[in-house]
Amino acid sequence: MNTSCALCDRARALHASSGWVLETSCWGVSPHPALQVPGWVAVQTLRHTEGLGTLNTAEAQTLGPVLSRVSAALARATDTKHIYTYSLGERVPHTHILMGPPGHGVRGREFLDRLLRRDQSLVDQPSADRTAADVAALLAGSDSAAPETHQ
Ligand SMILES: [Zn+2]
Repeated sequence: MNTSCALCDRARALHASSGWVLETSCWGVSPHPALQVPGWVAVQTLRHTEGLGTLNTAEAQTLGPVLSRVSAALARATDTKHIYTYSLGERVPHTHILMGPPGHGVRGREFLDRLLRRDQSLVDQPSADRTAADVAALLAGSDSAAPETHQ
């Protein structure tokens, strides 16, 4: 791990607190690091990599299945059809993919613009925490997350 990387630091903290929404041999999924928006998560490599072109074979081969599983769980937990996915790496170079549903009655470019501007009106910490727990339960194969509890 890189000693001066925010996402490597985050990985160490999440390991210590068992705070991952999902952890595989190569990938860690956690709530959006910068903005507590319900249903938004970051999928990051566990080791320090800088972009999809730097993944090793195991990371590259497991990325698709991880994205598919997480997307399905997010859609179910938030009762949303569309799950957006993007990766810029402009602020933190460590490979990470951000995923989540649109919300607050806005979609597409307008929603992503607000998300990228860190619009605090999108933040709902209690709902984000609840949704992350529901997604974690769904990914763990648990039926304890009933769809009607997800908002
Ligand atoms: Zn890193």
